[in-house]
Amino acid sequence: MAEETSCFTWTKLNSTIYRIMQNDKMGDEPFIYVKVYPTLLLIVDTGSGPDFAKDTTVTEKSIRSFIEKHLAAEGRLLTADGEKKQYLIFITHTHYDHIGGMFEFPEADIFVSGNSQEYVLKDLGCNSLCCAVSMPTPKFEVHHWLEQNEKLVYKGIDLKIEALLTPGHTPDEIALYDEEEKVFFSGDSVYEKVPIYMIETSNMADFGKSLDFMLEYVQKKNAELSGTRITTAAGHVTDSADTETLLVELKECFYDMLKGKCKLTKQENMRGKNVLTFMNETKNVGYLIIDAKLKEGLKHFGYEMELPEPLAADAPAKTFE
Ligand SMILES: [Zn+2]
Repeated sequence: MAEETSCFTWTKLNSTIYRIMQNDKMGDEPFIYVKVYPTLLLIVDTGSGPDFAKDTTVTEKSIRSFIEKHLAAEGRLLTADGEKKQYLIFITHTHYDHIGGMFEFPEADIFVSGNSQEYVLKDLGCNSLCCAVSMPTPKFEVHHWLEQNEKLVYKGIDLKIEALLTPGHTPDEIALYDEEEKVFFSGDSVYEKVPIYMIETSNMADFGKSLDFMLEYVQKKNAELSGTRITTAAGHVTDSADTETLLVELKECFYDMLKGKCKLTKQENMRGKNVLTFMNETKNVGYLIIDAKLKEGLKHFGYEMELPEPLAADAPAKTFE
């Protein structure tokens, strides 16, 4: 039999959480997490789906089958009674690279931010960027709309997870705090090395508020934990960095950008928009932002700065050192 190849990689983060990375054709490399309970499998995001495998010749492109093979090998797929575990899916936000694999779990209960139901229910094709990347828009029913600081109990089982509504990158962005493992699932609001995207669906005023909210939350928890620190399990790139440190850096970089003190590293056209990338001094955090969103942010927060002239539509990206 030919050797199995896959567009996913499997990494154990701690005793209950696994991190999967999808090697996808858009280069998003979305992270998908599985948290194992005795009778439940909690999935955070689902990747871009099988049609987005970068290498189309791999034999395994199904996120569900990939998860089930690995959990079976570790003896964690079934309950102690040999029954199938119930799937729960939490979507950190409905961008295409987080919802593309949802259809593989038709029986799962789906949890989505209750911050803006209209955003999810109306024009998901456009909002998810599925249309922009020619992905059929997933159809799904939301089992539960999450509330701010909701402590999650499912069918009598305490998940030991708290939901935080953190709009900004999108109106439906959430974070989840896993009390058991001290892990902060941050979606696309917090990660390192690559810029946070402030794009068509983003709102600067909301993001500024969410940064404050998340930082305050994580600082308080870290103080209570006395010694142990909360780590970040993000939608891309980052699966273990210190959350408080990253949030402090992101907040500083956010306001430095608005004050014109953050280094512009790149200018490019993206989906017909003029897009700027700013990184902090150490290049550990930064923002990729549509210039019109930056203008909105400047106005909202009361700063002024001169923005570079937009590039011609067919002009190549410019990088600045
Ligand atoms: Zn996103």
